[in-house]
Amino acid sequence: MRRWTAAGAAALIGVVLVQPAAAQTTSLAGVIDFHVHSGPDSRPRSVGDLEIARIAKRAGMRGLVLKNHFTMTADRAWLAMQEVPGLEIFGGVALNHSVGGLNAEVVRQMVAFSGGRGKVVWLPTFDAEFWMTRAGDPGAFVPVMRGGEMDPALGEIFDLVAEHDLVLAMGHSSPEEVLALIPEARARGVEQILVTHGLGQSPTPDQLRAMADHDVVIELVWLAVMNGQFSYADYADAIREYGARHFLLASDLGQAGNPLHPDGLNALMDGLRGEGISDADIDVMIRDNPARLLGLDP
Ligand SMILES: [Zn+2]
Repeated sequence: MRRWTAAGAAALIGVVLVQPAAAQTTSLAGVIDFHVHSGPDSRPRSVGDLEIARIAKRAGMRGLVLKNHFTMTADRAWLAMQEVPGLEIFGGVALNHSVGGLNAEVVRQMVAFSGGRGKVVWLPTFDAEFWMTRAGDPGAFVPVMRGGEMDPALGEIFDLVAEHDLVLAMGHSSPEEVLALIPEARARGVEQILVTHGLGQSPTPDQLRAMADHDVVIELVWLAVMNGQFSYADYADAIREYGARHFLLASDLGQAGNPLHPDGLNALMDGLRGEGISDADIDVMIRDNPARLLGLDP
């Protein structure tokens, strides 16, 4: 954030920057961005899959997880890896209406796709009940709970996640739903659980503590700092309170007009360092935890 502000101010007063701001940043070696939006997509994106893969490789990153709200990305991840060798690229599927909602068959097909890059199942995001209700969207949502009980369709999906060692990401479910679904998923053998931009759904401190006690990983994204929803201090407070091992740092970038993913990740690391978060803790959140979730060596 600070970097963009400084660069913007410099541009405004006509100062010629000797070096682009990105060149001053620390290494992204070993970094995996777990929340990458890129095109093709049905909404405007800043880069395509191949372009962001090339950019990430040039930045020295280890890997990317391609996230699309409307279509499966395991195939695109594999294709991108053919073009940009040396980068670990994974895909997944978000269980919104466009793939049939809580549709086990889309997960079954994803893991059967050649290349084996399908690794993440996101519960509904834009079509989540909580998200749509909070936004005042009157459209039909994809519920994950019905009358206080897990939607039965999730049972088969959780079984597939467990069987294929996938990551269950909670999408835009409410904190209450997340806490109700974690034990259901665990009972079916799901090991890797990620609470998608976990502060964005406004959990209470008790709910965050309960998530940490369930040993899940809570995602913190730079986009929410860029948007002003959270400050680095908010993130740093949460990291200190619950422990770095319960968090993952990702960009959530790719929106047309926004900075590119490596720049967001660098800004996020710099911002947290500025709040006193140690390099060791940053390593855990941006290198080790994403690798562990994806079944890679930390
Ligand atoms: Zn996103």
